[in-house]
Amino acid sequence: METKHIEDWLRDAHAMEKQAEEMLSAQAKRLDHYPVLRTRIEQHLEETKGQAKKLEQVMSSLDIDTSVVKDLGGKLTAFGQAMGGAMASDEVVKGAIASYAFECFEIANYKALIQAAEHASQPELVRVCKEILQEEQAMADWLAEHLEETTEQFLQRSENSDLDAKN
Ligand code: MG
Ligand code: FE
Repeated sequence: METKHIEDWLRDAHAMEKQAEEMLSAQAKRLDHYPVLRTRIEQHLEETKGQAKKLEQVMSSLDIDTSVVKDLGGKLTAFGQAMGGAMASDEVVKGAIASYAFECFEIANYKALIQAAEHASQPELVRVCKEILQEEQAMADWLAEHLEETTEQFLQRSENSDLDAKN
């Protein structure tokens, strides 16, 4: 089978999940005053750890070396760094926006991987990527639906100087 792009893209996806793990974990730790958002982020952190494991399993079944994390291409690094920086922001609304953008980035990556896997007739890889895609889509939908609520809470807390609105 034509695995060249699949190998590259799987390594990229794996690196993307490892980065997601770090960002989500840092974000969850900071959110003291936004328990609903925090709980959803913690849930997605667990999903993300599972995604990385699923990718490792499917990569080893395809004889792709998982010990070497590919030196990431410029695009992922630049995007990831920008989103990582915004997610590391000490302000909840910026973090929520960056999280949403990152989920959309993951969604697009898995859609391309699924297409490549279908092209190469790799049904197991298609199945795994579709499973992960569902979790990314659910998280993106949730973040989009709750952005208004998070922003409203932030604005209200900001009006009261006694409250720490930022996180
Ligand atoms: Mg993910
Ligand atoms: Fe995700």
